Amino acid sequence: MLQQKVRVRFAPSPTGPLHIGGVRTALYNYLFAKKHSGDFILRIEDTDSQRFVPGAEEYIIEAFNWLGITFNEGTHVGGKHAPYRQSERKDIYKKYVDELYDKGLAYIAFDTPEQLESKRTEIANFQYDASTRMSMTNSLTLFPEEIKNKIESGIPYVVRIKIEPNENITVNDLIRGEVIINSSVLDDKVLYKSSDGLPTYHLANIVDDHLMEITHVIRGEEWLPSAPLHVLLYRYFGWNTPQFAHLPLLLKPEGNGKLSKRDGDRLGFPVFPLEWKDPKTGETSSGYRESGYLPEAVVNFLALLGWNPGNDQELLNINELTELFSLEKCSKSGAKFDYKKGEWFNHQYIQLKSNKEIAKMFLLILEDNKVFPSMEKVEKVVGLVKERVNFIKELWEQSSFFFIAPTTYDEKTVAKRWKPESASELTELYGILEKIMDFSTHNTEEIVKSWIENKGYHLGNIMNAFRLALVGESKGPHIFDITDILGKEEVLNRLKKAIETLK
Ligand code: GLU
Repeated sequence: MLQQKVRVRFAPSPTGPLHIGGVRTALYNYLFAKKHSGDFILRIEDTDSQRFVPGAEEYIIEAFNWLGITFNEGTHVGGKHAPYRQSERKDIYKKYVDELYDKGLAYIAFDTPEQLESKRTEIANFQYDASTRMSMTNSLTLFPEEIKNKIESGIPYVVRIKIEPNENITVNDLIRGEVIINSSVLDDKVLYKSSDGLPTYHLANIVDDHLMEITHVIRGEEWLPSAPLHVLLYRYFGWNTPQFAHLPLLLKPEGNGKLSKRDGDRLGFPVFPLEWKDPKTGETSSGYRESGYLPEAVVNFLALLGWNPGNDQELLNINELTELFSLEKCSKSGAKFDYKKGEWFNHQYIQLKSNKEIAKMFLLILEDNKVFPSMEKVEKVVGLVKERVNFIKELWEQSSFFFIAPTTYDEKTVAKRWKPESASELTELYGILEKIMDFSTHNTEEIVKSWIENKGYHLGNIMNAFRLALVGESKGPHIFDITDILGKEEVLNRLKKAIETLK
């Protein structure tokens, strides 16, 4: 028998910026699809107009473009099951609502929000289900004529699923195994609202997964409680149920409770892929992109939050991840969001990139600081300092002295490193350096060191004062790498200035 082609989807609701946990869910779907040469679909679930936020869909698409997570079908790329935005599929759903109603598997309910509210005060833990539905205003308790009149006079109604009590419903989950839930704990969820003619999430989700031939539903653990209802809906329609996989939650870095935006604010890390400006409040939330993360690092970091390849290999690019990924290796328990590890990944990916690639990114920061050096110089500087940074922006802090001569000297360093004899020794050094023709690292180092040795000077003292003159403080890479990059003229200028200033 021909094996069914794997088709998975990421189905966000455009209610704001995409949480990093959503990005992880999408990534796992992507890896799974690629691994099985399947299709990955982006479906926008926007049937809840109350929660719709303008710009959210565009944000989602931009985030995936940045991360290199691509889709075979979706709102932005089209496909054979278009449209992929649920609000544009309105006409599709009604017949499925009618089908359930006609089969007696759903009913119409007219209860007003006030009636529901008073029930809630009357009955503790009120739930609209088999135990209460016969005391409510719905098509099960009204005469056909009354139902017809109400609908014709435009009284708003909802359609609810009719769930029989005391039945064990089994959800087969690829990560969790069999999850069995008794139907008595489920309520008769609303599937459709006449007020806007739109289905709710549950119905639209099932109908679309079926029509779009989704084979595996891979989503966050927060949807596990909805899965039994979904299993019932598949059964009511007589459709095959897709395979389910509910991914573990992302937990706070401390490990207690779900990761939230507040944790990011509190500890200083982003929880969104891109920066987001809330259209209502104008509040801006930081994003991984704007914070200086490389997309490859974010992908690698997220991939290992809730899954691992079964060995201790950590640095894996997206192709290697695809090769190794399996849902069976996903963990059941939540994954602590170790944002420091994210920084570590960024550090690693910076080291893996060529100096040229990093230099290109660093150029933008240099321009912001009004320096315009040659690409050759920037590449050399990057090569010297990149191992000291986790983020491209930190390169400036580590290397600004290569581009701007010190105008002041750090007081503490001066007090500690500038000796009474420093001025005269550096003046002598000036004379030595002036005569060197080949100013490359090793040559300069050899000449300077043999001069120091011949004179019996203290190597450390001279090098410290020299560094202070070139850098303005005591930091920086190997001193003769600095002289090599600065070049003779600049080194001499800086020496002269320090001697004059510090005396
Ligand atoms: N629209 C749901 C969400 O926002 C989709 C959940 C699912 O994947 O079924 O996460």
